Amino acid sequence: MPENTVEVLMIEDNPVHVQLIRHYMESSRLTTRLHVAGTLREGLDLIGEASFDVVLLDLVLPDSADLDTLHSVRAAAPELPVIILTGLDDVSLAATAVEAGAQDYIVKTQANTTLLSRSIHYAIERVRARSGEWDSAMFKLAQQQFLKAAQIMGLDENIRERLLFPQRTHIVTLPFRRDEYHLVENVFGYRVQHLLTMGPTKGGIRYHEDVNLGEVSALAMWMTWKCALINLPFGGAKGGVRIDPTDLSRRELQRLTRRFTSEIIDIIGPDKDIPAPDMGTDEQVMAWIMDTYSQQAGYTVPGVVTGKPVVLGGSLGRREATGRGLVYLVEAAAQHMGMSLDGATAVVQGFGNVGSNTARFLDADRVRVVAVSDVTTGIYNANGLSLEDVFKYCEKNRFLSGYPEADEVTNQELLELPCDILAPAALQNQITGDNADRLKCRLLAEGANGPTTLDADEILGEKDVFILPDVLGNAGGVTVSYFEWVQDTQNYTWTLEEINTRLHNILIDAFERTVHRASEDHIDMRTAALIEGISRVTQAKLLRGIFP
Ligand code: GLU
Repeated sequence: MPENTVEVLMIEDNPVHVQLIRHYMESSRLTTRLHVAGTLREGLDLIGEASFDVVLLDLVLPDSADLDTLHSVRAAAPELPVIILTGLDDVSLAATAVEAGAQDYIVKTQANTTLLSRSIHYAIERVRARSGEWDSAMFKLAQQQFLKAAQIMGLDENIRERLLFPQRTHIVTLPFRRDEYHLVENVFGYRVQHLLTMGPTKGGIRYHEDVNLGEVSALAMWMTWKCALINLPFGGAKGGVRIDPTDLSRRELQRLTRRFTSEIIDIIGPDKDIPAPDMGTDEQVMAWIMDTYSQQAGYTVPGVVTGKPVVLGGSLGRREATGRGLVYLVEAAAQHMGMSLDGATAVVQGFGNVGSNTARFLDADRVRVVAVSDVTTGIYNANGLSLEDVFKYCEKNRFLSGYPEADEVTNQELLELPCDILAPAALQNQITGDNADRLKCRLLAEGANGPTTLDADEILGEKDVFILPDVLGNAGGVTVSYFEWVQDTQNYTWTLEEINTRLHNILIDAFERTVHRASEDHIDMRTAALIEGISRVTQAKLLRGIFP
């Protein structure tokens, strides 16, 4: 679904039918908000005033009838999915309306909760599949960042065009069975390989209800720069399935994962493309991918994914690697800025794998973590949170909501709290031209991918905020993924100490190169990090040449 709440406009003049549909929607697993219009005029006015995700349309209204009704709605909002509400005696008219561009029809007397919510879900999916998949804010951001770096570094024109889009994109649709055996769900999945020049491609798989081709391509492009910046022998990739994983049972998650794996099985492999966890996926999901791939190969292939459980060939230290890496970099940045970490304050947005580990390691460095947040809420205590307590609370209650020893703050308020270090470790597009001016941190340590927009970068630059950009800040994850892949390939395991020492050395080397380039060329840290990565890729591309 496009947003968490689906905005539904019902244009229907019969109050009994309105009541009935409202009742079905209230018991649906979709979160919907229903807006009702009793005439076509009223409906068109509402379409002009607000934005909706779907329209439920009765074709026979007091001020319009038959296909004219549909045409008027489509003329007002050509991209808005329309589901016709029909009586049993009007089914042939409804079918004609579907031929004329409506997405579906529902016979009101035969409707029920499941039918209605599935029809809404698929109507939105179909329109979305048709409308520009590339057209996502995140892909535009990734391209703009790249173009800015390309401009500053005077990148070869041919290479610039070549790198602006991914080399391979794979879109699949796949079915999986719900626990109610007769319910089969169809979802969209993606695997994008941005650059095959440097070795196998590498990058996570995310399960989220907003995943689309543009988002996955942006993330794949960032993986390319990230791997090149830290000198890993990989190109960038990313994958995703458009689904809300919190809506799935464990068994559903497993069936979905195995089917998705089999849909992309030909393009992944230890020498081809190596997935890893990302938002909404974890060690267990990686174990199922590895098992599905191995079943097809006929023998165990641990190196096909990283971020696996340790007992299956996963690496020590991989689970906490992104947070640990980010804090290694915070330590280096603080030293560079002349800021003492002992007693400094930090705010962490997000309390998943990256956010919670970042908070934990900052706390171990004697930084006072004053606020953290998750999907339910933000919690703030100016004296510092007791993280041990917060972890215990989350273990018991799953989410932060209701935590007693702190004040509740919204996500927006959290970003604007006074602090020395702000670590966005949740979603993309959090720090924008709208709020950057109100940020009060001295150091922005990006754990998430794409949390900051280009206009926000400008504002933060003017405010002299030191930025650890995402391609550097969260690179600890893929670095230990690389160690995991090397260990799997060599059938030889390293100690945690070896892993952390190597991780530290690699990240600090990348940090120093980035700081050096930024100060030499008088550019910001993000552009400097991107140029480090792009230069390495360019060198490799020019040496390999073009086939044939
Ligand atoms: N998904 C993580 C990232 O965005 C890790 C990727 C990996 O380990 O391959 O960097």
